[in-house]
Amino acid sequence: MDMNENKRRRSMLLYILIALIAYLAISQTLGTNLTARQVQDVSYTEFLTMVDEGQVKKVDLNTGDNTLTFTTGEGDSEKIYETTMWPGDSTLIERLDEHNVDANANIPDTSGDMWLMLLISYGLPILIFLGIGWWLNRRMKKAMGDDGPSMNFGGGGFGMGGGLGKSNAKEIKGEETGVTFKDVAGQDEAKESLQEIVSFLKNPEKYNEIGARCPRGALLVGPPGTGKTLLAKAVAGEAGVTFFQIAGSAFVEMFVGRGAAKVRDLFKQASEKAPCIVFIDEIDAVGKRRDSSLSSNDEREQTLNQLLSEMDGFDNHKGIVVLAATNRPETLDQALLRPGRFDRRIPVELPDLVGREAILKIHANDVKMEPGIDLGVVARSTPGASGADLANIINEAALRAVRFGRSRVTQEDLLESVDVVIAGEKKKSTVLSQHEKEVVSYHETGHAIVAAMQKGSAPVSKITIVPRTSGALGFTMQVEEDEHFLTTRQEAKDKIAVLCGGRAAEELIFSEMTTGASNDIEKATQLARAMVTQYGMSDKFGMVQLGQPASRYLGGGQQLTCSEGTAQEIDAEVQRLVEEGHQTALRTLRENRFKLHEIAHYLQKKETITGDEFMNILTRDDGFAPKMPTPPAE
Ligand code: ADP
Ligand code: MG
Ligand code: ZN
Repeated sequence: MDMNENKRRRSMLLYILIALIAYLAISQTLGTNLTARQVQDVSYTEFLTMVDEGQVKKVDLNTGDNTLTFTTGEGDSEKIYETTMWPGDSTLIERLDEHNVDANANIPDTSGDMWLMLLISYGLPILIFLGIGWWLNRRMKKAMGDDGPSMNFGGGGFGMGGGLGKSNAKEIKGEETGVTFKDVAGQDEAKESLQEIVSFLKNPEKYNEIGARCPRGALLVGPPGTGKTLLAKAVAGEAGVTFFQIAGSAFVEMFVGRGAAKVRDLFKQASEKAPCIVFIDEIDAVGKRRDSSLSSNDEREQTLNQLLSEMDGFDNHKGIVVLAATNRPETLDQALLRPGRFDRRIPVELPDLVGREAILKIHANDVKMEPGIDLGVVARSTPGASGADLANIINEAALRAVRFGRSRVTQEDLLESVDVVIAGEKKKSTVLSQHEKEVVSYHETGHAIVAAMQKGSAPVSKITIVPRTSGALGFTMQVEEDEHFLTTRQEAKDKIAVLCGGRAAEELIFSEMTTGASNDIEKATQLARAMVTQYGMSDKFGMVQLGQPASRYLGGGQQLTCSEGTAQEIDAEVQRLVEEGHQTALRTLRENRFKLHEIAHYLQKKETITGDEFMNILTRDDGFAPKMPTPPAE
């Protein structure tokens, strides 16, 4: 919308305001029954006398307020009188007829009055409200440096045109990104998941032909700065399609309905440019769980509903794919995650050592460096750093080089800027100290070794000490070889032992405990409690139900269905089960102490190791071959 049209709209609004006020003023004066001309009030009996005397020429009866307006004389001598009719004077008509008086009854047009009333009581406030909103909007736009302030108001009801929210075309501009997967280092798993979307966008017909349900949306989940936006752009670049980007917060508007209008507009534009990518950054701003609380936000809810219905509604054969990013997926409304919406979740995690070096390499291409620079050192000294942090480190190093009047970045510049960037970041993101890294390495290796040594445990597939989105400092992933739905008592006991493995390793190596095991403790206790109260797996109580699973709906803990005395005994039994697992873990790790050291050191160096690497070290026969745990002395 250009400036001229904008001006025109503004003056139109002004005209309408003035016209309305003028109209109101006029109808007010007209409405008071000709007070402008001289009217004489007379009594009803006087009126009757004047009729009888034949003076009255014309009578207007206003049935609304029972007033009679009548005239006497003609031409210049015409006089106007007013009187109030005697209630129920049924002889009047005969009398008037008798004297040939021209009689008229005015049935007041109450509908007109009502219309006027409505206009005054609703129209005016709305107009004033719109005016203020429009003014605020302009001021906001000005403050944001938007060079084309635009009018977003003008409801269709006033016939002023100008669609709500239409004018945000500038914010939602499609572009060719030119970014490809090559510009994104690491994140191989994310790229792989996105590859299907790329091939769909390149070739929607192929999918339609087979009748495959094409992907509509995917949710990129990960901490800030890990390259979510970059990946979304890369998908558009790879497929060579238009990229629409908008922040979730841009949908959150002051006025109900505007956010929803923006969503509508966004999808309208997208469908014109299809195939294309629509990227909604930080979707949690608009996609927060709708709650039933009183303080629920109508505007946001409407916007979210609009988004949901657009996602359901758009013609997917055209090839619109909606990508969204968030670092708080747990706050999202469940409706967003249903099939046909953001049903794919693509984790974008912090980079590990190899990933960090690759990212550094990509960004190092943009600056001039002295030959022989070792980026590996930088990568090793930045555990927990995000891609954005690393890009920042390279940039800081370049700035430092300029400050010192050099034309190339040196190794020293790099290492200095690591301190600058990471020290600044330490509070914000999880960057572990060297000692913490060591503790976490032993902790995770502890879980893994105990898992490997238990017959009933699933194989270890991955161990990492790269901090997770979830807040965990590391984790050991076990993947069942095949799906199974029943858990034996031995498997449950093994699981408890594995959960105790982390803390057991810390105790064994550092003779110290950390808070890092709190989640393990919670899980182990829950499992042990369920064994006793739900699964009938304890020797003490046997096959008796003593409690119900913790209610998902009431949010409370487990509900016991037993006497208080029994509850105490249950606690003792749960404690015994967990302690048994703890002892098994300690014994296992003591017997494999050398492997524990070796694997923990290896993990600390590599940060992420595969299950195969882990098993290779564990089973390598070098005199310290793993020992199966001696059965507990029972
Ligand atoms: P997010 O959207 O996850 O917060 P961005 O995509 O905005 O992160 O990343 C910010 C910047 O960090 C990118 O522009 C890029 O320079 C850098 N970056 C992050 N991850 C990577 C990566 N995997 N490869 C290359 N650069 C990256
Ligand atoms: Mg981003
Ligand atoms: Zn643990």
